[in-house]
Amino acid sequence: MCAVMENNFEATRASGLSRLAAFAPHAGRDYSNNRNTDPGPGGGRTTSVLSPYLRRRLIVEHEAVAWADRAHGQQTAEKYVQEVFWRTYFKGHLETRPFLWTDYQRLAAEGHAQMRTNAGLRLAYEQATTGRTGIECLDDWALELTTENWLHNHTRMWFASIWIFTLRLPWALGADFFMRHLLDGDPASNTLSWRWVAGLHTRGKHYVARAENIRRYTDGRYNPAKLDEDPMPLDEPPVAGPVSIKPADKLPKGDAALLLHLDDLYPESLPLGSAKITRIGGLLAHADGAVERVRQFDRDAMADALSRASAHFGCEAALVAPGWSADLPVVAAYAPVGPSASALPKVAGVCRDWDTETWPHSKNGFFKVKTAIPRILARHPEWLSGD
Ligand SMILES: Cc1cc2nc3c(=O)[nH]c(=O)nc-3n(C[C@H](O)[C@H](O)[C@H](O)COP(=O)(O)OP(=O)(O)OC[C@H]3O[C@@H](n4cnc5c(N)ncnc54)[C@H](O)[C@@H]3O)c2cc1C
Repeated sequence: MCAVMENNFEATRASGLSRLAAFAPHAGRDYSNNRNTDPGPGGGRTTSVLSPYLRRRLIVEHEAVAWADRAHGQQTAEKYVQEVFWRTYFKGHLETRPFLWTDYQRLAAEGHAQMRTNAGLRLAYEQATTGRTGIECLDDWALELTTENWLHNHTRMWFASIWIFTLRLPWALGADFFMRHLLDGDPASNTLSWRWVAGLHTRGKHYVARAENIRRYTDGRYNPAKLDEDPMPLDEPPVAGPVSIKPADKLPKGDAALLLHLDDLYPESLPLGSAKITRIGGLLAHADGAVERVRQFDRDAMADALSRASAHFGCEAALVAPGWSADLPVVAAYAPVGPSASALPKVAGVCRDWDTETWPHSKNGFFKVKTAIPRILARHPEWLSGD
C-alpha cells in the first residue's frame, strides 16, 4: 500500500513527476498483487493515481513506463506497463471509431431530455448520483466521485455494472456522470470502459459486479445484497467498421505559432521538426458539464504548461484571443477525439511516436496491443533511457 498517493492533486507537471517518483517503487509486485483492491478514501492507494496527469499529458506515457521499468525491469513492471497501454489502446480505438463518441454524446443528451418528462427516471438518476439508492457501496462511491473527483478502477467497474444491470439506468447517463466529475475524465477511456462493462465493446461479454468480489476487494467494507448477478448484456445494432487514422500533417518550416490544448500539455517534448515557435496560445475546451473542480484543474494545468512553454521556447504564451495567430502558421499536438479536437481551428497536428506506434494495433481488442508492447518498446530505447 502506498501512503503518499492521496488525492490532493496539484495540476502541474512537477507534481505529476513527484507522484510518479513516489509511486515507482510500488509499480512492480506491489502493483500486480494489490491493484484490484480499493482500500477507499484515506486508506492508502494501491495504484499510481496518475490518471489526471496522463489524461492531459502533463506527464507522458513513456515517462510512466520508464520509471516503472527502471525500478523493476520489464518483466516485474509488466502489469503496470500494460495498464498504461490500455489508455493508448482506448485512444486508438476511438480514433478509428469516432462515431462511438458522437453516439455516446447523443445518448447522454437524450437521457437528460427524457428525465425532463419521465419522473421515474429522474428520481432514479438523482438517487444514484447523490448516494440515496440504499445500496451502501454505490451510495458511498457516488459521494466519493462527487467530492474526491476520482475513483479506483475496480470501483469504476462495480459502479458502472450496478448502474447498468441492477439499477437499469441508461449507460450513457452513467458515463456522462463520470465525465462531469472525474479529474481524469477521458472521452476514450470513459466511453469505451462503460461500453465494455455493458457488453457493447466486446459484444456479448459484459462485466457483472458480484457481492463476493466487492467484499473481497474492499477488504470486507461492503457486502451488498440485492445485486442483479445474472443479467443479460446490453445490445445495439451493429456498429460500423474502423475508419483510417488521417496521415500526419506536414509541419511548417520557420516561424510558427504553437497552440496548446488539454490533451497534450508537455509542449517541450513535441517533435516540431524545423518549425520555430515564436508565439504560444492555449485553448481550454472542458468536457461538457464538467464541474468547477475539474475546470479549475484544467485551467491550472494549462497555466503550468503555458509558463513552461514560454520559458522553453523563449516567447510569450497566453490563452488565445481572437486573431492571436492570423499572421503565422499554427501547429498543435494532435488532438484525439474529444472536446479539444472539436474546438481546434485548422492546424498542423503533431503526432507523438507513442501513438503512431500503438494506434495501428488498437482497431479491435487489447490483445494485439498487449503482444506488440515489447516490440514497440524495443524500437524506442530512448523512452526507457529517459533521453
Ligand atoms: C467505467 C470506467 C470508466 C473509466 N473512465 C476513465 C476516464 O475517464 N479516464 C481515465 O483515464 N481512465 C478511466 N478508466 C480507466 C481506469 O479506471 C483509470 O485510468 C484508473 O483507475 C486511473 O487510476 P490510476 O492512475 O491509479 O491507474 P494505474 O492503475 O496506476 O494505471 C496507470 C495509468 O494507466 C492508465 N490506465 C490504467 N488502467 C486503465 C484502464 N482500465 N483503462 C484505460 N487506462 C488505464 C491510466 O492512464 C492510469 O493513470 C475508467 C474505467 C472504468 C471501468
